[in-house]
Amino acid sequence: MMNFQQHIENALAERRSAGAYRSRIVSEAGSGREILVNGRSYLNFSSNDYLGLSRDKSVIDAWQQGAERYGVGSAGSGHVTGYTTAHAELEQQLEGWLGYPRALLFISGYAANQAVIAALMQKGDSILADKLSHASLMEASIQSPATLRRFQHNQPGSLQKLLNSDREGRALVVTEGVFSMDGDSAPLADLHQQSQRAGAWLMVDDAHGIGVCGDQGRGTCDAQKVKPELLVVTFGKAFGLSGAAVLCSESVAEYFIQFARHLIYSTSMPPAQACALTAALRRVREGDELRNQLNQNVVQLRQGLNDLGLTLMESSSAIQPVIIGENQAALDLAQQLREQGIWVSAIRPPTVPPGTARLRITLSAAHSEQDINHLLEALHVTAHTLR
Ligand code: PMP
Repeated sequence: MMNFQQHIENALAERRSAGAYRSRIVSEAGSGREILVNGRSYLNFSSNDYLGLSRDKSVIDAWQQGAERYGVGSAGSGHVTGYTTAHAELEQQLEGWLGYPRALLFISGYAANQAVIAALMQKGDSILADKLSHASLMEASIQSPATLRRFQHNQPGSLQKLLNSDREGRALVVTEGVFSMDGDSAPLADLHQQSQRAGAWLMVDDAHGIGVCGDQGRGTCDAQKVKPELLVVTFGKAFGLSGAAVLCSESVAEYFIQFARHLIYSTSMPPAQACALTAALRRVREGDELRNQLNQNVVQLRQGLNDLGLTLMESSSAIQPVIIGENQAALDLAQQLREQGIWVSAIRPPTVPPGTARLRITLSAAHSEQDINHLLEALHVTAHTLR
């Protein structure tokens, strides 16, 4: 048997030879529009700061005032002394905005997804997940004693087969609102109808839809007039901060307070962050102008990519992937764009299916028409290698 060191060296060597080796860059400053790396400023087309709120003055002020009042940390789990008036106020605002009896805050979307699935799903239950669901959902499902089955991406017919098949116990249908790597939206009305007919619950992770679509930015569920039993929203994208909330019924929230280990055994988010999130929520609700700007940017980019003869995906969201195929080709293109002052990340397997390495372009309301023209010109220069 290999010892730990041998195992680690083999795993690293395998990653390298597959062209899938990951490394981190050190950003010196950044926002939805720009990023500073090694003293050079780049136009940033890789951030999730979809509305540009990470630099919003009212949000920064709220964080600073929150820190003055509460200090910089919560100093405990919410079950001990880490649940403050700032957290309670934010939860209440989220409940009113999204129309759910309860909202529960988590330190991240990853933790929220893990917590919900771990607390809810028991041996003999079934998790029926869209094949392209986020790693946090898949990992929680794999670790769960419940049986995981995947349905074809965005295909209600494929879910129906799983719902019809022999199974015991409860079933939880899991999907994203807007998919993080493809940018397309789930057919939530069909998925919910099928779930309800089969007595299953629907869990929607709307990390990439919340703030961006729907009335007052209420997200993909609102845009499709669907109210899943469990809605997960995250604050690392359109809200420009980090953290997450689970929206649910009164009794489900009480159940999570009893049984969700990520709530019980983890320090709650800093109260100052909750203050900043409440300010960001105000900006999101009043953010029609920002959403219009973002949508215009999406239309402009798609038109430009189309004119360049590139293959677009079915996405009207801020996520606009250009599929390249081979890992090395995607990396080379990202490097060529970088040389022209443009930051776009190459996303490779295992994050996306093999053979679909891509440039994942993400747009922000903070981008201007000229910024997008700049990106399109840079892509034009490299486009011969893209077709
Ligand atoms: N769900 C989806 C769909 C995501 O894209 C992400 C983050 N990439 C997460 C959950 C995790 O959220 P967080 O970054 O808040 O942990």
